[in-house]
Amino acid sequence: MKPPYPLKLTCQKTAALMLAREDRALPLSERAALRLHLAICAACPPFERQLLTMRNAMKQWRTYVDTDER
Ligand SMILES: [Zn+2]
Repeated sequence: MKPPYPLKLTCQKTAALMLAREDRALPLSERAALRLHLAICAACPPFERQLLTMRNAMKQWRTYVDTDER
């Protein structure tokens, strides 16, 4: 199903952008579209929170591994 608004992201594209954001800086246009979608969508913000939680967990895990190796 296509969203009824033009120039806005689907949830699938939003999820892809949020994952890409973990690896690279997004251009301003994509960041803006992402924020816009998160503002109007009910499903994506919880997913973003999950991603942020996951990212923090990964950061702690990396710190742990770094510390362990030294
Ligand atoms: Zn969405």
